[in-house]
Amino acid sequence: MLLGLPGLIVERVELDEDRSRVVHVVTDERWAGLCSACGERSTSVKAHTATAPKDLPYGPAAVKMLWHKTRWRCRAEQCPQKTFTDQVPSIAPGARTTTRLRHAVAEAVGENRSVDEVARSHRVSWTTVQRAFTRLCATVLGEPPPTPLLGIDETCFGRPRWRRGEDGRWLLVEPWETGFVDLTGQHGLLGQVDGRTSAAVRSWLSGRSQAWRDTVRSSRSTRPPRTRPRCASCCHRRGSLSTTSVSSWPRTGR
Ligand SMILES: [Zn+2]
Repeated sequence: MLLGLPGLIVERVELDEDRSRVVHVVTDERWAGLCSACGERSTSVKAHTATAPKDLPYGPAAVKMLWHKTRWRCRAEQCPQKTFTDQVPSIAPGARTTTRLRHAVAEAVGENRSVDEVARSHRVSWTTVQRAFTRLCATVLGEPPPTPLLGIDETCFGRPRWRRGEDGRWLLVEPWETGFVDLTGQHGLLGQVDGRTSAAVRSWLSGRSQAWRDTVRSSRSTRPPRTRPRCASCCHRRGSLSTTSVSSWPRTGR
C-alpha cells in the first residue's frame, strides 16, 4: 500500500552503505504461488530469490526496491509449467522496471521531451525509454498502415551485457531490436520488437490481420553479416565489417 504497487507489500526499509534507501517488498499473499499457466495455487516451494525492479523516483535520493519472491513447483498434472516465480499485476513477467515507470517515461517522451533527458531524470537507460515509447506508439496507433514492401531491420542498442537470471545463472543479453519498416518510403517505421529472432518476427507478424499480411508482396531483411565478406574480385581477403547484407526474406519467416 505504501508504494501503491498492486501485488507487492513493503516489508521493511533499510539504509544502504551509500545512504540510499532500500525498500524490501514481498508478494501479496493473494498473488503468491499462483501459476500463470494453469491458475492453480502452489504450496511447493523450490527456492527463494530476489530481483530489483526499478520504479518511479521517490524524492531526490535514490530508492532501491528489492522484491523477495519465491520459485514454486506447479503440481497440476496437465500444466506445462513445472516451475514458476511470483507474478504481480504491477510488474510484467521478466521485466526489470515497473509497468507504471515504463508508462511514465513513454508519456514523457510523447510530451516532446528527449529520450536522453527522460532517461536521466528517471534514472533508467536510454534503451528502456526508447522501448517503452515504441510500445506506447504501437498501442496508441494500433494496426500500422499496410505496405507491399516490408523491410525488417535489426538494430543493436549498446553493448552486450551480462545479467543474472532468476535461477542465479548469468546470461549474456544482447540489446537487439527488430524494426519493421515500409520500404516504399511512405510510412517509415511500422513496428518494433525486442530481440532478433525469427520468433520475434513471427510474433509481430501474427499480431497483424490477415488482410494486412496479404498486402505484403515482398520483404527484405538487413542483417549484419555473420562473417566478414571476402573480396570476390582480386585478393580474396575478408573486408570491412561495416557493410550489411541484404537478402530476400521468405514471407513465412526465416
Ligand atoms: Zn500450473
